Amino acid sequence: MEKKKNHTYQDVYDVFTRYIHNKSDINLIQKAYEFAADKHAGQIRKSGDPYIIHLIEVAYIIATLQGGPTTIAAGFLHDTIEDCEVTKEEIAKNFNDDIAEIVFCLTKIKALSHNRRHDKDFVAEGHRKIFLGMAKDIRVIIIKLADRLHNMRTLEFQTNEKKVSISQETLDVYVPIADRLGLSSIKGELEDLCIMYLHPIEYQKIITYLDQNMKNREDSIKHLQKKIADMLLQSKIPFEISARIKHPSSIYKKLVDKNKTLDEIYDIFALRIITKTEINCYEILGLIHSEYRPLPGRFKDYIAVPKPNMYQSLHTTVIDRDSTILEIQIRTYEMDEIAEGGIAAHWRYKENMKYDPKQEQKEIMEKLHWFSDFVSLSNEDESAMEYMNTLQHEIFGANIYCFTPHGKVIDLPTGATPLDFAYKIHSKVGDQAVGALVNNSLVSLNTELKTGDVVEIKTNPQSNGPNEGWLKLVKTNQAKSHIRKWLLKKNADFLRETNIEKGKESLREVFRENKINEHKMMDYLSDSVLKNFQVDNLDELFIAISSKNIQPSSIIDYLKLNRDTFEDLLIKKSVSSKNKSLSSSQAVLVKGKTNILCNLSSCCCPIPGDKIVGYITQGKGVKVHRIDCPNIANQSRRLIDVTWNPNYENASCSVDISIKANDRDNLIIDIMNLLAQNKVGCNKLISKKHTSTNTTSILIAINVIDINHFNNIKNQIINIPSVYEVERVTH
Ligand code: MN
Repeated sequence: MEKKKNHTYQDVYDVFTRYIHNKSDINLIQKAYEFAADKHAGQIRKSGDPYIIHLIEVAYIIATLQGGPTTIAAGFLHDTIEDCEVTKEEIAKNFNDDIAEIVFCLTKIKALSHNRRHDKDFVAEGHRKIFLGMAKDIRVIIIKLADRLHNMRTLEFQTNEKKVSISQETLDVYVPIADRLGLSSIKGELEDLCIMYLHPIEYQKIITYLDQNMKNREDSIKHLQKKIADMLLQSKIPFEISARIKHPSSIYKKLVDKNKTLDEIYDIFALRIITKTEINCYEILGLIHSEYRPLPGRFKDYIAVPKPNMYQSLHTTVIDRDSTILEIQIRTYEMDEIAEGGIAAHWRYKENMKYDPKQEQKEIMEKLHWFSDFVSLSNEDESAMEYMNTLQHEIFGANIYCFTPHGKVIDLPTGATPLDFAYKIHSKVGDQAVGALVNNSLVSLNTELKTGDVVEIKTNPQSNGPNEGWLKLVKTNQAKSHIRKWLLKKNADFLRETNIEKGKESLREVFRENKINEHKMMDYLSDSVLKNFQVDNLDELFIAISSKNIQPSSIIDYLKLNRDTFEDLLIKKSVSSKNKSLSSSQAVLVKGKTNILCNLSSCCCPIPGDKIVGYITQGKGVKVHRIDCPNIANQSRRLIDVTWNPNYENASCSVDISIKANDRDNLIIDIMNLLAQNKVGCNKLISKKHTSTNTTSILIAINVIDINHFNNIKNQIINIPSVYEVERVTH
């Protein structure tokens, strides 16, 4: 860490006068500064600096977070009771009760830190009181964080023992608080300093590595940044793009948590793209994924599902052709402000508004529901260790982190089982799970997982798959909804298969009765049969027979009536060879005519295989609609019979579909991945979140070849976890 030059009172003044203009407020701050300078006069910090420097730095940090006059003044005064024998009453008299109460709280917290011991229970009790003290007023937390940040910046002047104990306390208590409040720059700096003092050798290795490799990586990132910027410029979506480097502490965590070497960490750099609207974010994501291959499992949709500290952004990791791997974050200006300033962005001082700590806390609790747990927990009478455990598990560790045998981290809610783990890896792994190894020993599928467990799922493709009992074994909604869907589909599939077989058998019987070669039955069931009985395919024909919607004898009657069909496939062959001469550039033909222009309508987007009808336009040929399109209802006089051109050789038609799903992480990427795997193009995506119902509706336009292709894709989409409805859209 380079040694920064100390700030002066003038620097603090320059920052807060950007947003504080009331003369009396400015005077209050000035007075607090002078009071502190007077009381601390002659005191020297271990760094050799006069004590007031510490108070100026603390006030400076608070001012950069846009703290109000009370908070800045209390920042200047925070050490006066402890170090200068000033009383709470004296502060109340010179300033006001509000400031006196805040300083008093901070003094109590400081006293606890001073009495730090190695006794674990005692440390926990101390932490508990720190939380209790801070929970009263968010301004206390902000000042305490600013105080701790400056103390960490100047920790080099402390003894080795203190370096370690203060860093450990910072890591245990203040880093999680800063993180939960979304104060990402403070959290990052604190954590870097903690790692530097707690793991100096590893920290140095990272710094050296960054120094040596920065140049190379920077060049390829700059190159990629330019390419992405060019692409976005063409799209006309507003954006700002910047490259940034990860904090050494987050690199350290990756090295340790994932047991990787520095060369294996590829997302040291990240690109950040800031744009106007939420939809712009997804549009940019779509453009980037169309150009660069995303790394599977790395997409995070924190817009649809914000982090508990209100953080919102899209994260993805992509691979360039020269195999540069890069993390990209996409968010709006508003999201960026919250990402950088967290709660402070919300809490930021607004001039001429009376500050009410109770009201403020209430608002914050509404925004951050964890904060209310945090406060109500503080009131319960638990032993200190229990309290810390609850805090760590329920609030700071709502998740547990497990590993695949390859070291990939899977995060799960507490209480999750190997089945949750399996579904988190892939729905197939979940469906085929038969057992699990946790830390190399075989366990049952209902074992509760702990952070650090290495979990290996045993699968068997021949297994029976999920059953009702599994619903009780899983904790995550993702696994639950998938199991439910699987069970439903299994029932439906089973029923369908049975009906197809039944229908086939009764038709076969009638063939036998009529002395028609039953082995040739399938050949007789030509397209014209399907068309006559108005079914799309053979399966549906058999189902209709089994459900008695079609009498098997009527099929025989039809075959007998249409002798040309009866004369077997010969005719079919000659028809298809004749058709080859027809135009292959037009998807639809008017019956009996080859030279009439037919266009597909864009309201109902017909695709080959749909039942269609032509609508004669004035001067623009024939518009082809789906037969049930509401736009041509009551237009029978202008309708004309049309048929799909069997020789049409075009690639695909565009279909608009609407998807409804319960909101969750990675939903859109799962849909996009599915389309990509099926090589289905997508030329539009609009997603809308409904916070009241916690659902998302998505409109996409996909390119398909025909109705079978479409149905296949549709069935796959409906099987994506949390999706509950997929429908074609008619405009
Ligand atoms: Mn201090």
